[in-house]
Amino acid sequence: MTSSAVSTKIDTLLRHAADGGRISPEEALLLYTDAPLHALGEAADAARKRRYAGDSVNIATYIIDRNINYTNVCLTACKFCAFYRAPGHSEGWTHTDDEILRRCGEALDLGATQIMLQGGHSPALGIEWYERTFAAIKQAYPELTLHSLGASEVVHIGKVSKLDHAEVITRLHAAGLDSFAGAGAEILVQRPRTAIAPLKESGETWLSVMELAHGMGVESTATFMMGTGETNAERIEHLRMIRDVQDRTGGFRSFIPWTYQPENNHLKGRTQATSLEYLRMVALARLFFDNINHLQGSWLTTGKDIGQLTLHFGADDLGSVMLEENVVSSAGARHRSNRTELIELIRSAGRVPAQRDTLYKHLSVHADPADDPVDARVHSHFSSTALKLLPTGVPAAAS
Ligand code: SF4
Repeated sequence: MTSSAVSTKIDTLLRHAADGGRISPEEALLLYTDAPLHALGEAADAARKRRYAGDSVNIATYIIDRNINYTNVCLTACKFCAFYRAPGHSEGWTHTDDEILRRCGEALDLGATQIMLQGGHSPALGIEWYERTFAAIKQAYPELTLHSLGASEVVHIGKVSKLDHAEVITRLHAAGLDSFAGAGAEILVQRPRTAIAPLKESGETWLSVMELAHGMGVESTATFMMGTGETNAERIEHLRMIRDVQDRTGGFRSFIPWTYQPENNHLKGRTQATSLEYLRMVALARLFFDNINHLQGSWLTTGKDIGQLTLHFGADDLGSVMLEENVVSSAGARHRSNRTELIELIRSAGRVPAQRDTLYKHLSVHADPADDPVDARVHSHFSSTALKLLPTGVPAAAS
C-alpha cells in the first residue's frame, strides 16, 4: 500500500471506531503503530463520549481505596516483582487479622469505600484463611466493598486447599468477596508471560478463571502491565484475548493498563514502555474495547501529567487515591498524590471530578470547587511499607 493509501485507511478506521464500530486486531495494530497521536487521541475521546449520556459525558472519576497487602510471602517468584519474599525468607511477613481489620477501619475513617486485598501466593494460606479474614472484615465493616484477589489467587488457593476453581470462587464469594481485581493478568500472551513469570498460571488459565467467575456472578476488572519486552503485536493480542472473553461474559467492568516499574527486581531496566506508548495504548484500548465500559488511566506508574493526559485519550477514570500500595511501589513507582490533587487534575483537564464506588456509581460530584472535600489525611501511601524500600522515596504526603 502507498503511504497515502495507508493514511486513508487509518482515517477510515479511526472514524469507524470512534463511531462505535468494531476493529480487528490487525486494524488495531495498524492504528497503534501508525496513527498520528492526536488523531488517535481524538478518536478515543469521541468513542468515550459516545458511551456516556447526559452530564456523565463530562465526568471523570476517582475512588478512595486501600490496597492491603496481607503477605509478601510468595512462591511464584515473578521476575518483575520487587515485593515478594520466598517462603522461609527472614523478611517474609503476613499480617494478623487484627492488623488487617485495623487498616480497614483506618481506610473507612478516611472515606474509603473499597478494599483491595492483594498479596503473595503463600503456601501457608489456604481457603480457610481467606474465608476467616473476609468474614471478619464484612462483619466489622459491612460498608466496605471487597474488590480483592484475582484469578492468580484462585489458582493458588485451589492448589493449597485442593479445591477446583469453582469451589474456591464460591467459598470466597460466600465469605464476603464482592468482585475480583484484575491483577495478575500482566501480559496474557504466553511467550512474554513465560519470560517474566514462568511459575504463574498461563494467560489462558487466568482468562478461564475470570470467565468462570463472571458466570458465577463475580465480576472483575482486567489489567495490562506494559513494557516487559513484549512486541506491539503481543500488546494487541493481550487486548484481543480479553475482548473475546468479554464478548461471552460482559463481566470485565474496566480495563486498566499500567507500565512495568524496573527497580529492585530481576528484570530491572530491561525495557519500559514510554509515556507516548502508554498514551497510544490507552487510546487504542478505548477504540478496541467496544464491550468494556470503563478505562482507567494510571498516575501511579506514569506520573500525574500523563495520568491527566489519559483523560484526553479515552480514559474516564483516574483510579484510586490509593491510601496504601506496596507492590508496584516496591518496584520504583514513586508518584504520590492526594484527593485534592486528583480532583484538580481532573478539573484542569476540563472535566467534572466525581468520587465513585466499585460499581462506578457517582457518590459525590464535585461540580463546584467551593464545595470540594477537604481532608489532608486523604493521600496516597498513607502508610505504605514500600516507602521504606525506596532509596529516594519522598514523604507520603508530598507529590
Ligand atoms: S507479582 Fe504477585 S504472584 Fe508474582 S511474585 Fe509478586 S507477589 Fe508473587
